Amino acid sequence: MTKAAPSGPLGAKGPMTATTPASFAWSLARHECFHTCLRRYYYRYYAGPGVIQQVRDLQLRHEWAHTHIRRGAHEWLRESLEIEAAAARLLQTLRDDFRASRQHEYRLTPKRTAGLFEHECGIAVPDEEWKSLADRAVADLRTFAGTAYGRELAAGPAAARLAIGENLRFDLRGLAVDIRPDLVLKDGTGLRIHDWIQPSDVPSRGLTRAALVWLAVEHWGAAPAGVVLVEYTFPSGPREEYRFSEEDLEAGRELIHDSADEMRYPLADPERDLAREEDFDVADDERICHTCPFLRLCARWR
Ligand code: SF4
Repeated sequence: MTKAAPSGPLGAKGPMTATTPASFAWSLARHECFHTCLRRYYYRYYAGPGVIQQVRDLQLRHEWAHTHIRRGAHEWLRESLEIEAAAARLLQTLRDDFRASRQHEYRLTPKRTAGLFEHECGIAVPDEEWKSLADRAVADLRTFAGTAYGRELAAGPAAARLAIGENLRFDLRGLAVDIRPDLVLKDGTGLRIHDWIQPSDVPSRGLTRAALVWLAVEHWGAAPAGVVLVEYTFPSGPREEYRFSEEDLEAGRELIHDSADEMRYPLADPERDLAREEDFDVADDERICHTCPFLRLCARWR
């Protein structure tokens, strides 16, 4: 990679596993969950159906707002919406989502209804703060659309857009990888992958870059030399661009496989992707628990 080498946030490297079962797919969210709390990781990815399924996708309000802003920006581009139409839709979506969460609809339809951690845990947040969060989300979308970068994206040919905010899965040398690029554009014989980042994403940038460039190579058959990764700090920049060598790709593949191996290490039966709760320790730092969706279910607090 010509700008900077991928950072290696992982600890010790584990051995490459011989096979990875189809039920196991690597993702950045999975990696981050594993490194936050092993027990949380167990609940999120291995615990059986029931109450846990109702709360596993709960989000903190700032994560929730960010998810919706990005989705709003994807829709703005995908549907070539006027920005005021996109802003109005985002505000309405936030209001509808908030009401549904406040009524705990996610408990009945966890796959369809987003739930907020604050509602599940009965954390009092003043109405003004919710309103301010929604107003900031809409303002950020307007800001993004008004930047030179946003205008450039909106003016580009729709036919060049290969993917906008879609969940994609590809095979990385025997390991399924899930990722959602913000925008992938065809650029002559190459590809430009756009990733809209937040400053807090820094620790995991190396893994995300590796997954995105491999997505271009494996999913669209791009030559590594023809891939440009555009990182844009949402909503108003700056923007950085990266190119990758064959060596960068190999280093990225190792980084992702090492992360997957580390996650599979505590499994009772890695070949069948089976886990036991007692093999996944609770977090050392109790402060992490205060924002955990499984707080009310966790054996640590029962
Ligand atoms: S409540 Fe704390 S220890 Fe339990 S799963 Fe959540 S973060 Fe981990």
